[in-house]
Amino acid sequence: MPGEARDSRESKDSRNSNQLSFDELVEKFRNAIREELENKDSFNAFQNASESFFSSLRLAFDRFPDTAKLAAEVRKIKENSLENLEYLIDVATQNLERNGIDVFFAKDALDARRYILEELSGVKERTIVKSKSMTLKEIGLRYFLEKEGFEVWETDLGDFLVQLANDEPMHLTAPAIHLSKENIAKLVEKFGELKNRDANSIVRLIADFLREKIEKAEVGFTGANAIAANSGSLLIIENEGNARLVSSLPELHIAVVGVEKIVPSLQDAYKVAEVTWRYAGYEMPSYIDVISSPSKTGDIEKKLVKGAHGPERISVVLLDNGRTAAKGLLREALKCLRCGACLFACPVFGELRGRWGDTYMGGIGVAWDAIINSGEAYKAHALACLLCSRCAEVCPVGIDSGRILRELRASFIRELLGIDRGIKRGNHKF
Ligand code: SF4
Repeated sequence: MPGEARDSRESKDSRNSNQLSFDELVEKFRNAIREELENKDSFNAFQNASESFFSSLRLAFDRFPDTAKLAAEVRKIKENSLENLEYLIDVATQNLERNGIDVFFAKDALDARRYILEELSGVKERTIVKSKSMTLKEIGLRYFLEKEGFEVWETDLGDFLVQLANDEPMHLTAPAIHLSKENIAKLVEKFGELKNRDANSIVRLIADFLREKIEKAEVGFTGANAIAANSGSLLIIENEGNARLVSSLPELHIAVVGVEKIVPSLQDAYKVAEVTWRYAGYEMPSYIDVISSPSKTGDIEKKLVKGAHGPERISVVLLDNGRTAAKGLLREALKCLRCGACLFACPVFGELRGRWGDTYMGGIGVAWDAIINSGEAYKAHALACLLCSRCAEVCPVGIDSGRILRELRASFIRELLGIDRGIKRGNHKF
């Protein structure tokens, strides 16, 4: 099945935004808008999810009324961390290495993929498993490894469904938000028999199928919600339990993490994580994983042996890909925690869902696409923003995507007119 997904994606990749003119990008986006506006199933599924999200958010805030205060604290943590980013990258690297973790600083997606391929050179088992991570999507990991002959499985349930459907995620934290239960049942019947066509049976069938893949894999990939520079720790929050299996059962765990996720201390990382899950609509997540070194034991004659139950080796790829070069308002977008709250508040996202954006999605995603040098599609996508700033009202760290997109628009219009002024995107002025 991964092969089928690869074939379809290759045809999508042939329309890579790097190869299209601005007019073609606008036309492509127009077509996506037309298609999505007619997709009533997706619209209804999103409306239902949106209602559930806001009622979960209210419950979470009722139970933890200090959340807004904590969010203000996290905003400061992120601002200070971004101001000292180069320094924190050095401190995090030193402390991760001190804990026995290999660290690679990848200047861009190509660099990250090249390093990962080297890491996989001695691996015999072709099955690879991964958990949900926008950073893994950003470097195109799954399609890249499939082209290299690996069988790659998404283990997050929503991402797995999207993989089966040959589709793209429709929301940051709920990738399969657009698929109805009936459609999902049809998809999973491709690889197994469902006793009943209810949600429990579907989840059981998928979990059993994926457990076999996770147990077989020698390598598991994850991202991380935060990195604590002082302790050299990765912090991952999740509900399904797949990320902890992916990061502990295979012999090698590779985490690809954007450098903007680094904060000074473990306490800071926990605060970032707590605000992330709360604004994602959870009172508490099922799991909070803190990973600080490969699995080890010294129980036999005090000799250190690595890989007791967990992985023998952990490799962390710190991904730059335009982050350290982002200036002005674009740098503001680096504070994003990826809780996804803004997407539920955004009227444009409510209509277009994951079709609005290239690598990332929604208004904040358009700003991120501009940061990571993923092509020029963000220019066409920026035109769709209503500049209403509803996103800023729910964002825990106060990012106003409307303001960023207004500046981006003004910048590339100045560029078209040949006026050399505007906000900086990497080393380029618009
Ligand atoms: S300003 Fe743009 S991104 Fe923000 S909520 Fe309004 S339409 Fe969405």
